[in-house]
Amino acid sequence: MDDEQPEPTTNRIPPLLFTLNKDAQSAWLKTQVIAIKTCLLGNVSNVDPIRSGTTIHDEGQNMINSLKQLDGTFVCSDCGATYKEIGWLKRHMQKKHDWHPPAPPPRIHAPNSTKTLVISSFVKMALLARDTWDAYRMGDGDRVFRNAKLEMLYAFGTGRTKYRLWLWNMVANELACLTEREAFEYKWNISVNLKGGIGQNIPNDDLCELQVRRIKGPLATQGPNKSFDSAQVLCKTSHVLDQLKEGLQKRTKVFRGSRNRTEADKSLDISKMAKEISGANIQNDSNWESFNNFKDPLERIQLPMLWNWMEINKEIASDLMAKK
Ligand SMILES: [Zn+2]
Repeated sequence: MDDEQPEPTTNRIPPLLFTLNKDAQSAWLKTQVIAIKTCLLGNVSNVDPIRSGTTIHDEGQNMINSLKQLDGTFVCSDCGATYKEIGWLKRHMQKKHDWHPPAPPPRIHAPNSTKTLVISSFVKMALLARDTWDAYRMGDGDRVFRNAKLEMLYAFGTGRTKYRLWLWNMVANELACLTEREAFEYKWNISVNLKGGIGQNIPNDDLCELQVRRIKGPLATQGPNKSFDSAQVLCKTSHVLDQLKEGLQKRTKVFRGSRNRTEADKSLDISKMAKEISGANIQNDSNWESFNNFKDPLERIQLPMLWNWMEINKEIASDLMAKK
């Protein structure tokens, strides 16, 4: 990596920084963090307009919901007209009482170049993915569920219908549908630790895949004797067999290979990539033309569509809660 100029050419550490007091040092560090943040993430938040617009929408929706009677009908607060469906009441209020559903707030588009937009968009998603993965490894349920809300918005913006519904259900179960005890267990059993030690947790989905692979292997050796019953026996005995094997290995002092994956040395790859990138002259804006129509996933969200989708899923969630 020596030939890739490891020393920064701008924003160098002041030579006398370590002789300054702690406050001055942290002030310098803060300016650097802000500079990096502005450079990589941009100045404008994509989440704030979604949050403020949704708050206004929710207030309007709560007002309408307060007109719901015990028998499930909706009564107009101004003239007492009764409607079976919320949609009809809304139409009546729009026609007769000049009521307007809240409009989404205008989006502020920062005058960024395509390059800045693409990079900041990528860095935001990359940081979110990295943070979620770290949260799973640390078994940090709070962080996993906090990130799930933002990931749901990204899934909505990129049109991933399966994942947005899956993430919605995850959050809805945690916040409303499950009992307090179930919600607590769901949040704090979101990952599992097979090896022991801090930061070694894996998501439950991965554990499920591992288990399936462990059963599939021995099952494949059964040939024509393979059946539902034999698979069931395998599921019940795989843990016992593992323990027997471990016991035997201990007693006979058999060398047991490490279960850790070998860490690959990536420094050569990074050096190669750095050379390729600097050779391709990516810094030049003219190379970013193919991204001219790029839009950040959160910018792609049509708020009325998001609200509508959320209303439908809230109805489903409240039905589930009522059935309990
Ligand atoms: Zn009315």
